[in-house]
Amino acid sequence: MRFRTVKGTHDILPEEALRWRHVEEEIRRILELSGFAEIRTPILEQLELIARGVGQTTDIVTKEMFALERGEDRLVLRPEMTAPVMRAYLQHGLYTQGAVMKLYYIGPMFRAERPQRGRLRQFHQYGAEILGSSDPLADAEAIALQMGILEHFGLRQLRLRINSLGDATCRPRYREALQAYFRPLAERLSPSSRERLEKNPLRILDSKDPQDQELLAGAPRITDFLTEACREHFEQVKTYLEELGIPYEEDPFLVRGLDYYMHTAFEITSPLLGAQDALGGGGRYDGLAEELGGRPTPGVGFAGGLERLLIALETAGYRFPEPARPDLYIAALGPEARRWAFVHANRWRRRFSLQVEYDLAGRSLRSQLREADRIRARFVLILGEEELSRGRAPLKALDSGEQTLLSLDALPDTLIARIRRAESERSPTPSS
Ligand code: AMP
Repeated sequence: MRFRTVKGTHDILPEEALRWRHVEEEIRRILELSGFAEIRTPILEQLELIARGVGQTTDIVTKEMFALERGEDRLVLRPEMTAPVMRAYLQHGLYTQGAVMKLYYIGPMFRAERPQRGRLRQFHQYGAEILGSSDPLADAEAIALQMGILEHFGLRQLRLRINSLGDATCRPRYREALQAYFRPLAERLSPSSRERLEKNPLRILDSKDPQDQELLAGAPRITDFLTEACREHFEQVKTYLEELGIPYEEDPFLVRGLDYYMHTAFEITSPLLGAQDALGGGGRYDGLAEELGGRPTPGVGFAGGLERLLIALETAGYRFPEPARPDLYIAALGPEARRWAFVHANRWRRRFSLQVEYDLAGRSLRSQLREADRIRARFVLILGEEELSRGRAPLKALDSGEQTLLSLDALPDTLIARIRRAESERSPTPSS
């Protein structure tokens, strides 16, 4: 076969899809418990929105966009969701629906990065945005929510790093101080950091290059440049985290190199992941709405990677739910019995919500029974032409091997009663 998935993308096969669904459902439940409502925006956005929203000098925009042209339109497969969510909020005037809007999303994102474990070109994020509040409580809420999701799945040893990026007053001063520090050292910087020195010096702080790291040790720290108000905001976020007992580390070099990212930035990593160890991150982006030409709207949010969350859970030995067991497999032999199976499977699924399966390929009784075993059906009804004409057929419970001869007319009632009984034996009523 000559066709394969495109580089950096992957199929989610049925067994894996069950895990995905479980994780997504849990995330939805947790976010909705905190009052977040789902938003779904198109995968295609205008390139200009992303260029402004993510930042002209970022790797995402300069190197990693899946861009396409169609007539006059310059489009892009969205690489992240904060800009699209803000666009939707402004476009539909969602600010009229209440002072603070809490939105969440789950879906595919696209970045043309070099693929490796935990880094794909089409990957999936869950995330949330709190729009309309500049209160440090909202920053703490976003961090607590993200930590809460990861802890809900039993992940431990999470490392939460936080920093403050200041605001439009402190940032330019810090930027200048950074440039003043690095300019005399420019020769010793890595080529990419040298390039960033004039355009976006904060991003040098992100560099993984060992030589850059060495120079970084002596670099000025943003925390020494914060205005009183910015420092106060940061202190409050930290106090709130302490109130919830969420451990954090301050990392003065954690940045999001965009002008309208302000105050809080955070990232959560896990030792269960390899080189790509960030499970998620986020921050406050009070300047974004205006950058997009909208009314000033403070916002704070986070995004987490679903592929990485699944890798971490699998490594941690998380117990995912088993696939649902079919209630009944009708092993039918001969044209009349097969027709009966077809009619009754359809009727009982519809009428009683029973999960009923039967053979669609005309296979032997032996392979039908093997199939019933493979899909872990609870009961098998063995039905030939003779059983059909007598109106009675053997029903076998696959777990116990117990077999009873049953009237076909009474079958759904008997089956439902036995399934209920088995279920109540499995989950005794909780003591109060
Ligand atoms: P970011 O929007 O870059 O802050 O990403 C937020 C989270 O999304 C990261 O912490 C990762 O968990 C995940 N993520 C980002 N880029 C990728 C990628 N290329 N492949 C898989 N997951 C990613």
